Amino acid sequence: MERYTGRVALVTGASSGIGAAIAQALVRKGLKVVGLARRVDKVKALELKDAPGKLYALQGDVSSEESILSAFKWIEDNLGGVDILINNAGVIGELPLTSAKTADWKRILDVDVLGLSICTREAFQSMLKRGVDDGFIIHINSVLGHIPPGSSDIAMYGAAKHAVTALLEGLRKDLVARKSKIRCGQISPGYVRTEIHDFLPKYTPEVREKTPWMESEDIAEAVVYMLSQHPRVQVHDIIIRSVGSDL
Ligand code: NDP
Repeated sequence: MERYTGRVALVTGASSGIGAAIAQALVRKGLKVVGLARRVDKVKALELKDAPGKLYALQGDVSSEESILSAFKWIEDNLGGVDILINNAGVIGELPLTSAKTADWKRILDVDVLGLSICTREAFQSMLKRGVDDGFIIHINSVLGHIPPGSSDIAMYGAAKHAVTALLEGLRKDLVARKSKIRCGQISPGYVRTEIHDFLPKYTPEVREKTPWMESEDIAEAVVYMLSQHPRVQVHDIIIRSVGSDL
């Protein structure tokens, strides 16, 4: 992990949940962390006074290519470029395949698939331009990127997360073809207690009470583990389930 002290990490979706925990964990490890989200005030509130690293809160929307490109430009102008990308921003919805609105499906695909892909390309180009050959790109996927969804209403989210699994292996192959030493990997959590479940009406207080939750910090620890490995080691995927999970 020492190799990344003082380096620049971009964490998308840093205003809450898993992204907020990852941003703070990396600041504690001494990185310069750009926390990107639409609710930038929530990112600012994560500042850690006595940590060795520094948090830069940046407003941005990963469903907009223009917004992503201006975020990368800000990072280039102010911090040099991106050495580590954590593609964490994600949205979900109860969107049945036989009745949901196209615009709602698009919102999931724009953030969870296209936003992730555009950020990946821009981070790689930033590393290439500066001759950074020890960069790292990590996708926050889901258990639902590996197994079929349990119900139709989250099938579009499951499709997006399966796409992330395909995109990670595509990225890995692309890096191999380029003889790059830049690493990539993904973390695939089960149930984590975050705001994302507020978008799912089926998560009533009774359901939440019975759900075996993990905490966002559990996932942040996996990110630190992935980054801490020897440069010859590329942990490809960490599937993390809570004990007692049906997922
Ligand atoms: P939260 O809802 O707590 O956080 C989602 C984050 O994504 C927020 O910071 C939000 O910021 C950001 N975000 C959403 N849309 C955009 C956008 N258009 N542009 C920029 N940022 C955006 O959920 P989680 O922490 O749970 O989710 C983080 C990741 O973890 C997601 O990819 C999710 O799919 C994945 N995951 C979560 C699981 C869970 O059980 N919680 C399980 C498996 C995977 P803002 O609204 O301020 O823009």
